[in-house]
Amino acid sequence: MAVPERTDHPEDHRIVGIVGAGQLARMLCEAASALGVGTVVLAAGPDEAATQVAGDVIVGSATDLAALGALAARCDVVTFDHELVDLDAVRAMEARGVAVRPSSGALLAAVDKAEQRRAFALAGLPVPAFEVLDGAAEHDLAALRGLAARVGGVPVVKAARGGYDGRGVVVGTTLDEAADAVTRWRGQGVAVVAEAPVAFGAELAALLARRPGGDTVAWRAVETAQVGGVCREVHVPGALDDETASRAAELARRVAELLDAVGVLAVELFDTADGLVVNEVAVRPHNSGHWTIEGATTSQFENHLRAVLDLPLGATDLVAPAVCSVNVFGAEGAVAADDLAAALAEPTAKVHLYGKAPRPGRKLGHVTVLGDDAEVVAAHAWRAAAALGTPVPATARGAR
Ligand code: ADP
Repeated sequence: MAVPERTDHPEDHRIVGIVGAGQLARMLCEAASALGVGTVVLAAGPDEAATQVAGDVIVGSATDLAALGALAARCDVVTFDHELVDLDAVRAMEARGVAVRPSSGALLAAVDKAEQRRAFALAGLPVPAFEVLDGAAEHDLAALRGLAARVGGVPVVKAARGGYDGRGVVVGTTLDEAADAVTRWRGQGVAVVAEAPVAFGAELAALLARRPGGDTVAWRAVETAQVGGVCREVHVPGALDDETASRAAELARRVAELLDAVGVLAVELFDTADGLVVNEVAVRPHNSGHWTIEGATTSQFENHLRAVLDLPLGATDLVAPAVCSVNVFGAEGAVAADDLAAALAEPTAKVHLYGKAPRPGRKLGHVTVLGDDAEVVAAHAWRAAAALGTPVPATARGAR
């Protein structure tokens, strides 16, 4: 793969280094290509999603300081595709003067759910009642039972580090099951967050992009639908009225300022009868923002690049009254690529496949449809996703 030529004037040809080479890195590389920005990815293996489109690939571990050093040597700024990083290694890069965006300080909140809950509660952001369980077994289980009694329900328990897409989260079980999960994670030396189960009407996500000086642009907040802790569909504007959407955007802005985040930041929220509650934050492009590729003037991927390169941010306006994105998942025996023709027979569907080998339950791509009517765009998006082999959940909107 060709390495973009470095010149004596780095301003002429910027290169972004990305830690991780999954689908987010792949879509960052696609956006970089349009801007004439070079890309280098640090991939765990040679066949990861972004390796097919990156300007250059380094194969190595995201937690290995030598591999990170090799990446930093080839780019102007280092950014991230995922949060499964070693913060000490990231801090070491910063200490060497490498431009790391977002910084290790902002990453900490995204990497560690205990740190995140504490920081947000301290800042007065609305979070569920919680306890951090990081002590002796009896103390932890007593704190779990105490929280259950206080909130009048079985607490949701979350591994503070290492979970994603619902892995590392136990929701809505018995107190015994929650206690078992706590014992298991504590046995692995992982701190646990136990928190009140939130009765929400809808789950939302608010995305923004922020430059180093603090300039910020925000997209319209969206409604997301999860199955088993995994995002399946995104609706813009969805069930969200304008006032709720702007309150969600305002909370995201407060989070971004608190963390001094640079790049795209996504805040996942619960919409409850008592107002919005913050679930979690990601300091990178986010699954809830894939719709922005076609549905907004500037995509989350382009604005992430602009932000980490400290370039002017692009407008975030919605370009259609209704947008729906549906994730494409592998099913038993399904080969998504073979079904591409069937998906493309849905003429309004914009299909994105990430070049991953299909496996049951594996996220392989997404489909976005824009239009005038929420039901119609959802139905068309689901039709294309189903043609690609995605199992359609009973809850799928517009697919019934
Ligand atoms: P992950 O980091 O793996 O995405 P999350 O913390 O976002 O995990 O939790 C995954 C899903 O579990 C959420 O999207 C939501 O549906 C559910 N969930 C998480 N926390 C709570 C809570 N306190 N109350 C109710 N449901 C929750």
